[in-house]
Amino acid sequence: MIIIFLGAPGAGKGTQAEIASKKLAIPTVSMGNIMREALATGTQMGLKAKEFIESGKLVPDEVVIGIINERLADDDCKNGFILDGFPRTIPQAQALDKMGIKIDKVIDIDVPDKVIQDRMSGRRVSMSCGAPYHLAYNPPEVEGVCNSCSGKLIQRKDDLAETVINRLKVYHEQTEPLKDYYKSQGILSVINGQESVEDTTALVLGALED
Ligand code: AMP
Repeated sequence: MIIIFLGAPGAGKGTQAEIASKKLAIPTVSMGNIMREALATGTQMGLKAKEFIESGKLVPDEVVIGIINERLADDDCKNGFILDGFPRTIPQAQALDKMGIKIDKVIDIDVPDKVIQDRMSGRRVSMSCGAPYHLAYNPPEVEGVCNSCSGKLIQRKDDLAETVINRLKVYHEQTEPLKDYYKSQGILSVINGQESVEDTTALVLGALED
């Protein structure tokens, strides 16, 4: 099965993608995590992407399309995969089509901007493995420590208030048109993001079974 998770930054798509990934036993390919890894290890691509990521802009299409092309050729993607944070523009979606990738479902997690801005202030990620948490809605078992890798939890620079406003603007301008792109193909399910992760998960898993 090939699934795309769409949604504004902070709508909870990363968390839902991970849950669906475990349930369906297929990997999640998170473009944001690939970017942050490249940034942390200081690769040439990471250095180029740094300025875009930290200011809340999208990394140029040709860069992310090249990355996804390579990643999806890996062995673990043979039986399906979940895309989190890709595509984010129409040219990226068209690139997937050109690669011959047949998408089964697109889940859009819909959350109002105001709620997102409130949520982002509480978002934390593991410094080591990138796992997402929220101080109020999805806290770690031990304060400040990742459940899975014991890494330190930090607030991402791009989760700071002024960057979030910019990321939402970019989302509405460049990513939201993807909803119509996939709606016209009859594969879009819109889920209203709920307050609790569990309630949203129930709706997502229901949509995946349809
Ligand atoms: P995320 O964690 O998915 O919100 O991604 C963090 C940042 O990585 C974004 O704000 C972009 O700067 C960059 N990024 C992630 N995915 C993409 C993509 N598909 N196209 C362009 N830039 C991306």
